[in-house]
Amino acid sequence: MFKQRQPASSKNGSVVVTVEGSQMARSLLGSNATSWTKLVMDLYPPGTSVRSLTCSYCNVEQPPRSKHCHDCDKCVLQFDHHCVWLGTCIGLGNHCKFWWYICEETSLCLWTGIMYITYLKANLSSAWWKDAIVILLLVTLSISMIFLLLLLLFHSYLVLTNQTTYELVRRRRIPYLRGVPERVYPFSKGACRNLYEFCCLQSSKYRMEQLPTAQELEEKSRPYTFCDVVTCRCCC
Ligand SMILES: [Zn+2]
Ligand SMILES: [Zn+2]
Repeated sequence: MFKQRQPASSKNGSVVVTVEGSQMARSLLGSNATSWTKLVMDLYPPGTSVRSLTCSYCNVEQPPRSKHCHDCDKCVLQFDHHCVWLGTCIGLGNHCKFWWYICEETSLCLWTGIMYITYLKANLSSAWWKDAIVILLLVTLSISMIFLLLLLLFHSYLVLTNQTTYELVRRRRIPYLRGVPERVYPFSKGACRNLYEFCCLQSSKYRMEQLPTAQELEEKSRPYTFCDVVTCRCCC
């Protein structure tokens, strides 16, 4: 996530980015709105209109994959979704933590379920109503676990293909994704690289991705051949 602390009505127009450890952001510190605009414009194909990229709420040019969240009232890099349970946006800076959170919740449900089953097996002679309560809890837990497991699998799929929930759901409404064929993942660098960047580059909270060129998209949309399967094209 990135915060644009500068109010829209500012006269000097400088953009302040809260950041630690990012080389790109370090270069931004002390810079002005013009350099920020240039930086963002370089991420888009030549000829893209600045106007169409400017967030009307923050008055700042949005890099690709970012979106304004109305609940948080700020633009979020690599916006995934706004989580009402956690009360925050899930984006570039915390998507990895969110994945581990779901993983932990799923494991916890599984472990509790095993405990319930063990209890039921060990207490066959106990009062029937105690067993009934445990069975009811077990059913509720199973439903929660199925939901969490599906959510975990869904986010794992997003990670391996370098997509976000927002991009997947609103693919046809996002201008730069409209022309991209259905089964092509424009930001994917191969499953292994995607996984590495997701797990290990989280400290670069202000890492911004360039839109792929027409040539790169054409390469990604090329049908798989036997040679591609042997060389594991989807992974590398
Ligand atoms: Zn905004
Ligand atoms: Zn939000």
